[in-house]
Amino acid sequence: MKKGAIFLDRDGTLNPDPGYISSPADFELYDSTLLALAMLMKTDLPLIMVTNQSGIGRGIIEQAALAQIHEKLDQNLSTVDVFLTGKYYCPHVPEDHCGCRKPKSDLFLQAKKDHDLDLSASYLIGDSLCDVNAAEAIDVYSILVRTGNGIETEAKLNQDGVTVDYIGDSLLDCANHLLALEVSA
Ligand SMILES: [Mg+2]
Ligand SMILES: [Zn+2]
Repeated sequence: MKKGAIFLDRDGTLNPDPGYISSPADFELYDSTLLALAMLMKTDLPLIMVTNQSGIGRGIIEQAALAQIHEKLDQNLSTVDVFLTGKYYCPHVPEDHCGCRKPKSDLFLQAKKDHDLDLSASYLIGDSLCDVNAAEAIDVYSILVRTGNGIETEAKLNQDGVTVDYIGDSLLDCANHLLALEVSA
C-alpha cells in the first residue's frame, strides 16, 4: 500500500542558513534537529529532503561540495539512527525557469514516483514561502517552522491571506505536532 512521506526543507529548517553553504565546515544542524528527526522516524513515514540550491547554478557551490555536505548530514543523522529515504535538490537559478525549483512540483513528483508515495497522506515542513506554496501545489499538509525565514514568512502569509495547517516554533515543535496527530504509515 502506498504511504505518505514527510518532506523536509533543508536550509532554515534543519540547519541555520547563512546563505549558499558551500562547504561541510559551514553546515551545522540546529540543536533540536536530531531529536526532532528521531521522533519523526517513529511515524514510519519516509523522511525526504527537498532543497533549492541555486548556489550551484550561480557557480558558488560545487556539486562535489554539496555531496560532501549531504554526507556530513547523513553521518550526523546516523548517530541517532535517523535515515533520509531521499534527498532531492534543484541546482537551478530562478532565471532558468526550471520545473524543479520549489514552489514548483517536479522534485516532489519525482520522489512520489521513486518511492511510490501517496501525496494526499504527506506532509511538508519548511521555513519559506516557496515551501508553503509547494505544499499547496502538491496538496500536502503544510507546516511552517519559525526558524530560518519562518517568522518573516509568517508575516507574509498574514498579508496575503495564505494559510498553512500548522506553524511551529522549532522543528521539534513540528515533530511533536505530527506525533500528536498520530501520523503514521
Ligand atoms: Mg529553507
Ligand atoms: Zn530546478
